[in-house]
Amino acid sequence: MTDFYNKKIETMNRKDLEKHQFKLLKELLSRAVKNEYYNKKLKANNVSIDDIKSLKDISKLPFLTKDDFKNNYPFGLLTVPKSELIRLHATSGTTGNPTPAYYTRNDLETWTELIARNLYTIGLRKEDVFQNTVTHGLFTGGMGYLQGAQRVGALVIPFGGGFTRRQIKFMQDFGVTCFHAIPSFGLKMIETINEMGIDPKKDLELKIAMLGAELWSESTRKKIEDGLDLNAYDNYGLTEAIGPGVSCECLEKDGLHIWEDCFYPEIIDPETGETLEPGEEGELVLTALYRESLPVIRYRTRDLTTLIMDQCNCGRTFIRHTRIKSRIDDMLKIRGVNVFPSQIEEIVMNQKEIGYNYIVRIWKKGVLDEITVEAEVENKYFSHCKTEDETLREMTRIKNELSRKLHEVTLLRINVDLKPEGSIPRSEGKVKRIFDERNK
Ligand code: ZN
Repeated sequence: MTDFYNKKIETMNRKDLEKHQFKLLKELLSRAVKNEYYNKKLKANNVSIDDIKSLKDISKLPFLTKDDFKNNYPFGLLTVPKSELIRLHATSGTTGNPTPAYYTRNDLETWTELIARNLYTIGLRKEDVFQNTVTHGLFTGGMGYLQGAQRVGALVIPFGGGFTRRQIKFMQDFGVTCFHAIPSFGLKMIETINEMGIDPKKDLELKIAMLGAELWSESTRKKIEDGLDLNAYDNYGLTEAIGPGVSCECLEKDGLHIWEDCFYPEIIDPETGETLEPGEEGELVLTALYRESLPVIRYRTRDLTTLIMDQCNCGRTFIRHTRIKSRIDDMLKIRGVNVFPSQIEEIVMNQKEIGYNYIVRIWKKGVLDEITVEAEVENKYFSHCKTEDETLREMTRIKNELSRKLHEVTLLRINVDLKPEGSIPRSEGKVKRIFDERNK
């Protein structure tokens, strides 16, 4: 039996849900037109809020893009007076200005409820000890998960990022049962507990991990679940929309439920902008229905996914989307073929001899694109080899197997370079795996 955080909302029938969404959309639009820029945008697209007579009419509204945020930096998109804001978060903005996300008191309250719902859905309860392993600064994953876990009533440890060994000592000493992390930190934890001689079954009380903010695959989930002896769940969000709290997996681990009482999702063709049928893969477009501070209306996320319309076994009526396949801008074009980094990750992480670290290099050989996967193998799989020759033969076998599987999925000949355990440099924070060196 599913235990809901808010049963009435999570099991709402579609008719009531759409009525609720339409009411919120009208309120959102009446706030949005108070913003000069947004008002002009509507006029330029020959649409007025009176044209929106049903939920379906949302397709008459223009898209909002990252450029709208950029062009209105820092306060130009506000739909409330600045004095109503009580919090500001932002994307890292490594190139150019960061993208700010503002919260009114109500925005912050909604966000807290949604993160509490995320955590409750995957099993966090007030008896749990929760460690947040990401930074608690501008990044929404820090404060967002801190607030949400407190709302559930768990004991919260706002550890922050990095310091893997100390994080693990905390988990051991304070009996942490659940943590929030980026997936690459989960992989790093496995390596570190192995180094520390910690047995997750005996020495740790971990049951659940909430992972997100980085693309990951089913193979990586399996590695983390086996390596740390817990259940790992995916969640999704983006700073422009709210931060995390847009969607989350339930215990079924079969797609992420979009919290439709707060968000209206659409899938469009990223090239033409046309709305696609349910079940077709395309770019996720989100409308943050409740949002007071910003007109996040038909925001183009640049994330590729598919909506799942069938009802989930958990009993929630909210639709699901598949794990994000790729950021559209991260798609690689190699010798004219489109390749998604997630396709490579799924195969590499599924090869049992490969450890927890790999990178992908794209480079030029003459005029031709070349792609090389550098992956670390784990020593323990070679302990049975008695001679150097035997080790070499085993390496060649793994290399050929990986090349063949990569070719089957990507239709490209991909070079595989196997490396000793621990030889690929580790990064702190979000991991960088793709190195496109073609324009160097
Ligand atoms: Zn479900």
